[in-house]
Amino acid sequence: MHEIFDTDTTFASLDLKPELLKGITEAGFEHPTHVQAKLIPQAIEGRDILGQSKTGTGKTAAFGIPVLHLLEKQDQFGALVLVPTRELAVQVAREIDVLGQYTGLRTVPVYGGQKITIQAKKLERKPQIIVGTPGRVMDMNQRGLLPYKHLKVAMLDEVDRMLDIGFREDIRRILGSIKQAHQTIFVSATISPEIEKLAKQYMKNAVDLSTVEAKSLTVSQVHQRFMPVQPWDKRGLLKMVIDREKPGLMLVFCRTKATVDKVTEYLGRKNIDARSLHADMPQNKRDRVMEKLREGKVHVLVASDLAARGIDVKGISHVVNYDVPDDPEVYVHRIGRTARAGCDGQAIMFVTPEQGALVDGIMALTNVEIHEDGYDDFKPSPPPEKDRRRQEAQAKAKAEEVESKSRQVNALPDKSAAADASKFPGGIVPTALPRKGMGGRLRTRRS
Ligand code: ADP
Ligand code: MG
Repeated sequence: MHEIFDTDTTFASLDLKPELLKGITEAGFEHPTHVQAKLIPQAIEGRDILGQSKTGTGKTAAFGIPVLHLLEKQDQFGALVLVPTRELAVQVAREIDVLGQYTGLRTVPVYGGQKITIQAKKLERKPQIIVGTPGRVMDMNQRGLLPYKHLKVAMLDEVDRMLDIGFREDIRRILGSIKQAHQTIFVSATISPEIEKLAKQYMKNAVDLSTVEAKSLTVSQVHQRFMPVQPWDKRGLLKMVIDREKPGLMLVFCRTKATVDKVTEYLGRKNIDARSLHADMPQNKRDRVMEKLREGKVHVLVASDLAARGIDVKGISHVVNYDVPDDPEVYVHRIGRTARAGCDGQAIMFVTPEQGALVDGIMALTNVEIHEDGYDDFKPSPPPEKDRRRQEAQAKAKAEEVESKSRQVNALPDKSAAADASKFPGGIVPTALPRKGMGGRLRTRRS
């Protein structure tokens, strides 16, 4: 069985209206992916769906195609897709537009940072499908430009992000304002049990659809490695990775906007064509960088987690986690920018000495081994003065902590030790519980 595509099925066999099939064929789609083959027929039947499938497996078309099939020209403001970033609003609207180009249905993106008047003009033409970020959608609704009363289908892409704390209230307000019966379709590559529960509050008798097997959360086409490095050596190592790996197009993820800009400047000084992308940049600049990226005119894009989700750009051969993400789910989305739609990709993560536990957490979540790698001829530099002082202070604090722990252990009353000892006939009595695993936070298989 093909990992991504359902090669036993064709789009022609899905009973779609001919003008839609024409657009799909012209887009170069022949076989649906597994998530498309499962989701599209159920969605066309009108079911509410919570769908999970790995990054790059075609979730956009999975919810876009049934909507294009179900809506007719008179269904103005008939469907709403909510997404977490402006870049994603533009991309998702574009893909639905391409697939639906012969249906006569119009798709419009609405997102912050672009002039209200430009988008207002487009809404005045009463499109059938709206793709937007929550803030701007609510704004347009309050201005009376984007009514909810005709909505037949509401969709959340990246549902776990949309229902996490930052967006939760906005989503509640928007979805709570749809008073008529409607269909809901929510998708993501990562859906924790908590998110599943929240999502189901918006759904009736939902189809729980997953194409993610228990094996792993990331596609096998992405080769994952980590490289140990000291914080002050990361820039030099990145330069070496670029020289050695010869990436077609590389995406570098940093924790902060300041680091994004610093790394971009450094690469520029080394004559590497690098661009920044983060939320402190004006929107027109963000749009320009995305355009350049899509035209293949950027060699290295250094980005914040703004670019971690959903972005689908051809030719991203490498993803570098310059900083390890704190949240293992973010890792899944970041590396999912490569190895899309069955292509190969490389994921490299820089890991500093104290970050072992974060990497363990990532491996526990994804259920994939990340192999250690590095360059024998990479020359680490001595720590700069400020790092050296910090390291010494940390080492001292650690030594004190170990000493105080050992005093506590020695002071344990004999009784409890004896009681425990009876449960451990081997004679070795643990003094601390094993670290709580991070596995099981995500749903990985459905019955
Ligand atoms: P996801 O949302 O699951 O991460 P996307 O919807 O962004 O994935 O799709 C990834 C890429 O695969 C896009 O470039 C899309 O055009 C392409 N794609 C989707 N479905 C198919 C298909 N059935 N055949 C070929 N390419 C496809
Ligand atoms: Mg997507």
